[in-house]
Amino acid sequence: MRRFNLIEPQRLVEEEVPAPEPGAGEAVIAVKCVGVCGSDIHAYYGEHPYISCPIVPGHEFVGIVTKVGEGVDEGWLGKRVTVLPSLVCGKCYNCRNGRFNICQELRVIGCQSDGAFAEFVTVPADKLFSLPDDMSWEEAAIIEPLSVAVHAVRTAGEVVDRRVVVYGGGPIGLLVMQVAKAYGAREVILSEPDSFRRSLAQKLGADYVLDPGTVQPSQWLLDKFGAEGIDLSFECVGIEATMREAILSNRKGTTIVVAGVFPKPAMVDMGLVQDRELRLLGTLMYVKEDYTEAIELLSSGRVQGLPLITHRLDFADTAKAFEIIEKEKGNCVKLLIKNR
Ligand SMILES: [Zn+2]
Ligand SMILES: [Zn+2]
Repeated sequence: MRRFNLIEPQRLVEEEVPAPEPGAGEAVIAVKCVGVCGSDIHAYYGEHPYISCPIVPGHEFVGIVTKVGEGVDEGWLGKRVTVLPSLVCGKCYNCRNGRFNICQELRVIGCQSDGAFAEFVTVPADKLFSLPDDMSWEEAAIIEPLSVAVHAVRTAGEVVDRRVVVYGGGPIGLLVMQVAKAYGAREVILSEPDSFRRSLAQKLGADYVLDPGTVQPSQWLLDKFGAEGIDLSFECVGIEATMREAILSNRKGTTIVVAGVFPKPAMVDMGLVQDRELRLLGTLMYVKEDYTEAIELLSSGRVQGLPLITHRLDFADTAKAFEIIEKEKGNCVKLLIKNR
């Protein structure tokens, strides 16, 4: 089979390797569609704290089950599926308590184990989810990032009637915003420097969008809503500046959900966190319930995935993916690679 291997930063090379065979408890998927994630981009430039080369990227994938290993229900053969890409130990404290997203030995397909920039990928059969018949491959490729957003919003607790700020209008920010609205948030304000992404946020239901290049978000929020106006914030970028803005503008006693991946440590005013009894809550990936919920949110139309897909590439052109993303900048929200 053909695959694209990131042999070193900025060198994604096409290779021919034997097609995979499933081991016990595994399934082989013929990949139909794979999304390129922010973490793949960090990895491509050698800037992801937990991904090293060589690696075949790709963890946001959908496809058809072509082979199953020993002990796997043959009913899966030929099924259209997506896959929850976490590889977990099943034994550590968090695995035993249903929180396998923070397994002590967590590895992720496409991050620490070869992924779906390939014609076929091997996965644990207990992480398969079958797709609704009427859901397109493209829409289904949004289930993985949407699950990240669902998990982040569930981590936050109650959102009904809350005024929510989302920092970052990338795929995760745009999905967090939509999930918060779907769950009953009163208003959502999204802060994002790129104008295309701001307009997309408006189309997808943001009540206000802010350009942090022209206004200081915390100042704008305090002027508009007062010191008690903001009930909850989501950091979906992974930089110091947005954490600072959230700490400055959240009402005392509220929560800031940290969903962005920080390539380097952030200096923030912990004095304010203490004095204002702010809660900084980290969130990572998802558990099975988040996947089920993401599928439901997309198929019911309560969250829109397709508008996020701005770019598409044929599998044969995979090596160009990161160049295109670099060139298109904010105009590229989600790039999908499609296998025939
Ligand atoms: Zn992802
Ligand atoms: Zn574990």
